[in-house]
Amino acid sequence: MARIALVTGGMGGLGEAICLKLAALGHQVVTTYSPTNAKANEWLAGMERQGYRFGAYSCDVSDYGSAQQCVAQIEREIGAVDILINNAGITRDMTFKKMDKESWDAVMKTNLDSVFNMTKAVCDGMTERGWGRIINISSVNAQKGAFGQTNYSAAKAGMHGFTKALALEVARKGVTVNTISPGYIGTKMVTSIPEDVLNTKIIPQIPVGRLGKPEEVAGLVAYIASDEAAFLTGANIAINGGQHMS
Ligand code: NDP
Repeated sequence: MARIALVTGGMGGLGEAICLKLAALGHQVVTTYSPTNAKANEWLAGMERQGYRFGAYSCDVSDYGSAQQCVAQIEREIGAVDILINNAGITRDMTFKKMDKESWDAVMKTNLDSVFNMTKAVCDGMTERGWGRIINISSVNAQKGAFGQTNYSAAKAGMHGFTKALALEVARKGVTVNTISPGYIGTKMVTSIPEDVLNTKIIPQIPVGRLGKPEEVAGLVAYIASDEAAFLTGANIAINGGQHMS
């Protein structure tokens, strides 16, 4: 059945693959982009050339008011959100010794507060209608920790607790809440890591021997978003080429 799917950060590497996959399955896809994104129209035009027409709304997911306003506008102009993918995220990597309050706050707000902000805006509607999917994009680095990422690992690990607690609260209402924890996926967030670090430190840790593909994560999102996945809730699903098994 076709649904309305909202993907935060849909113009990023992973988000774009998720938008394309959900659209290919017939869902009506809406994405948010950050207010500082000057290339949103260019991205939309590129998608249109490929035959995809996505709704796109400027939203600072780290800001509660912006998130509420954005979802209200989407629901007025397009319809009620059935599927929410909390995908927007940033890194501000540095050792804890160098970690300043601003880098801590930015990562917590964008990666974790955003999950509260966006979910708050859609969750009551989902439970009232008796169907919904909330999918949070976390990271392998929340499961195992990562050097230089106390902020990112903490924020992404916070998603797991959020997922389990909310899954309990909405389980009887037809709404599932799950987390996906990708390993290293070949988007600009990862390909901007210096090549020698990728080749000597990161790829050798991945038993499959390569970075993941955004489409591989998008396929998992599509399954969790489906009617078939109604019994899957409160889970944290790893997709990391065998890098970390828990
Ligand atoms: P990108 O940097 O390509 O995309 C991140 C997206 O987040 C961008 O589209 C950006 O929007 C959006 N965003 C950032 N800040 C805000 C904000 N304040 N408000 C609204 N949107 C914002 O990264 P990826 O596609 O690689 O990552 C997507 C998600 O997957 C992230 O949460 C990341 O942590 C997670 N992840 C990625 C992995 C990887 O290997 N790539 C591994 C594990 C997890 P805009 O483009 O409009 O600025």
